[in-house]
Amino acid sequence: SALSVAMDGPSGTGKSSVSRALARRLGARYLDTGAMYRMATLAVLRTGVDLADPVAIADAAAALPLSIGTDPAAEAVTLDGEDVGDEIRGARVTAAVSAVSAVPAVRDVLVDAQRRIAKDAARIVVEGRDIGTVVLPDADVKIYLTASAAARAQRRNLQNITEGRGDDYAGVLADVERRDHLDSTRAVSPLRPADDAVTVDTSELGIEAVIDRLVAVVTE
Ligand code: C5P
Repeated sequence: SALSVAMDGPSGTGKSSVSRALARRLGARYLDTGAMYRMATLAVLRTGVDLADPVAIADAAAALPLSIGTDPAAEAVTLDGEDVGDEIRGARVTAAVSAVSAVPAVRDVLVDAQRRIAKDAARIVVEGRDIGTVVLPDADVKIYLTASAAARAQRRNLQNITEGRGDDYAGVLADVERRDHLDSTRAVSPLRPADDAVTVDTSELGIEAVIDRLVAVVTE
């Protein structure tokens, strides 16, 4: 039967791994909206426009040649046909993504695309920051994943080490806190739980425990 799950929360809560695994357990598609903002950011960086110029950013975003797959078992993100899966996780994109995703015209383009993709899928888990509040206010289930800043920085740092980007806990923690602040205080779609979201704190839980908990929430 049809099912839409909105997964929101800050970075470093295990949200991506958990959302992907949840989609697989539910036999659903999976949409990573953070990857879309990262692709838009990469596209903007490649055009060389000034990140302090929202009009130029909006122009660059108007004709985004991005495509994203919804198979929870395989990430497929391409910009103009080029696989940019690694590049969108790099420091350059991560440092600029908050600025680009704060531009209303960028959000308009991406939110439209996200709604279209969700509508085309019978069952889907959509992951991001504003899914339950803005993108899919009528989602069947809304989950807000949270965790302490220290727990989130620790996870992100571990991920960086594993993926060859080096060990820098202090730097990662500073970046987590900086992005939290920007994401929760920005004028457009600030990060917050939807009124009808179920909040799950993952600070003390392993990935498997979180997934079990969410499967229970969804199938309850
Ligand atoms: O989840 P991820 O860390 O990949 O998201 C990167 C950035 O994209 C976030 O820090 C946020 O600024 C932005 N984003 C957003 N709305 C979403 C998803 C991501 O503004 N739905």
